[in-house]
Amino acid sequence: MLDINKVEKLKKNYFQGSLDNTKNQPDFFLLHKFELVSPSAAQNFLDDFKKSIINEKRVLIYIHLPFCFSECVFCNSFPHKVNKQQQDFYFKSIIKEIDIFAQTGLFDNKETQCIYFGGGTPTSFSNDNLEAIINKIRKVTHVVKEASITTEAHPLTLKNSDRIKGLSKIGVNRVSMGCQTFDPEILKICNRSHTIDGIKKIITELNELNMLSNIDMMAGLPGQTIKSMKLDMEILEEIKPSAVEYIRHEIVNPLAIEIYKKNPELVVKDEDLFQMVYLMQSWMQKQGYEQNGYFTGKKFWEYRYHWLKEMPIIAFGSRARSYSKSMSLDKHENISIYTKLIDKNIPPIGRCAFLSKSDQMFRYLFLGLQFKKGMSLIKFKERFNENALDVFRDLIDSLEEFSCIRIKENHISLTDIGAFFVEDVCDFIIDFALKLESKDLKRNPNSSGSTSSRL
Ligand code: SF4
Repeated sequence: MLDINKVEKLKKNYFQGSLDNTKNQPDFFLLHKFELVSPSAAQNFLDDFKKSIINEKRVLIYIHLPFCFSECVFCNSFPHKVNKQQQDFYFKSIIKEIDIFAQTGLFDNKETQCIYFGGGTPTSFSNDNLEAIINKIRKVTHVVKEASITTEAHPLTLKNSDRIKGLSKIGVNRVSMGCQTFDPEILKICNRSHTIDGIKKIITELNELNMLSNIDMMAGLPGQTIKSMKLDMEILEEIKPSAVEYIRHEIVNPLAIEIYKKNPELVVKDEDLFQMVYLMQSWMQKQGYEQNGYFTGKKFWEYRYHWLKEMPIIAFGSRARSYSKSMSLDKHENISIYTKLIDKNIPPIGRCAFLSKSDQMFRYLFLGLQFKKGMSLIKFKERFNENALDVFRDLIDSLEEFSCIRIKENHISLTDIGAFFVEDVCDFIIDFALKLESKDLKRNPNSSGSTSSRL
């Protein structure tokens, strides 16, 4: 049971409500660090990236497939509308992009630990397309035998059992579906349709094929109430997906803003949203689901586990972001520029950021705190030759004042309160790091990045 006084203190001092910040897959996001990359310099940046992962044995591969059938009001990834001709062209570009990267020797002596198809709706591409991409990856790098291969999927694309069987056949072993809610009224407002029975059927079929499943859910959707969230949770308990991920609805989509302008009563007030976050985190904890701040292992979402451990991510596709410990590389977000550059054999890199030693230390803490065990002080010292308690003394003091972190057994970890509001703690850390750099720097909303990439 959390101490109510401490919870109130946190609400007053940390809670960011539905502001668009680090609510979705939190990573240390410093938009001001990115510099634009001209086509003539792209190869040099790719070479720098290659050097930055030279000592890494394993990598994660992310494939961005940003096409959807319609736009959901809660969407923050701004996909393109499905279009067979454009998608065929895009698919060919992805295949060629993998080759362009492989030709630089990026994958030499490396193994691929996980492959993740994100979007958009990756299943708006055929199983044949997804298989061809997996096969291309297998050609340029050794994919480990036990590799986790995930695709995100709109539930409506999995209506047909053969589609799911086909995914299993091509090696996909985990499917992540966005549901966000099962409340028909809210789904209608959000321009979204799926049924409880439809989702149940998909989860049953995935289970039969020994595939892992994840359902994405949201708190703070237009017109959502605690009562409606509780009903969602009852349904989830019945459906029993392998994993559930609950995030806060960030009000970034122009469609959502339009709806709220016309119907301000649909906006969930911060006070209610705070209770919703509390409710969803308590429920996740009770159900034993992995959640940021409490992440324990790689069983249900291996890709995320290795990401938090800073395994490099090599990302393909327009908007996709690659990470190493010291660099972030974003591909061009304009699809036509992206495909044209690939056509000319130029790496389609649009912007790039180098992380200073201080940024790297903050990122290490930021990602480490999302594990239940926290960040190891010993490993920090080994990597940076610095004492984390000295480096982060002021930050630790502030977080301790609100009972968000603790130092125990050579680890800095989140307390229960800190873990419940991990995204707000992460926002606080970014603000803190920015202030150290310059008083005038402000945290950029993640949507400035989400037009470039979420994963
Ligand atoms: S929420 Fe998912 S399905 Fe809906 S538009 Fe965005 S990416 Fe597409």
